[in-house]
Amino acid sequence: MNTEIQGLGVTVLGEFCTEFQHTVSEYLVRHRSILDALTKFQESCAKVNRAVAKAATTCGCIEINVSKQKMPESLLIQDFKRTSSTHIDGELCEHCKDVVEAELGNNLFYLAAICQLLGFELNDIVNKERERVSALGFFKMG
Ligand SMILES: [Zn+2]
Repeated sequence: MNTEIQGLGVTVLGEFCTEFQHTVSEYLVRHRSILDALTKFQESCAKVNRAVAKAATTCGCIEINVSKQKMPESLLIQDFKRTSSTHIDGELCEHCKDVVEAELGNNLFYLAAICQLLGFELNDIVNKERERVSALGFFKMG
């Protein structure tokens, strides 16, 4: 990806984040208190986890098979990507995908709400985190 296209992507994402936060602030009526927003944010995170768990335990479209990650002999990120596992077998079915997607969206709503209530710009946070991930690379994984 060349720098010009990459820069355009960041700009579009920034505009999207700003617009999304503005939209959330317009609908932020019922949970205007920071305590409501914080607890709804935490609840929405739990609902994402529950939706993924239900995909495995109720639907069965995915299986979660957990074991200790095998560390590669080298510390090269490409070797770690090759030897590490997501622990997910299968793919979310359309129904489970819809449920998980809706819960992730709800989580984003409350993230934007908390940003709004505390005077943060979601766009700034996304940009700063992107820069941190780029700078830290492999070391961000822990
Ligand atoms: Zn499913």
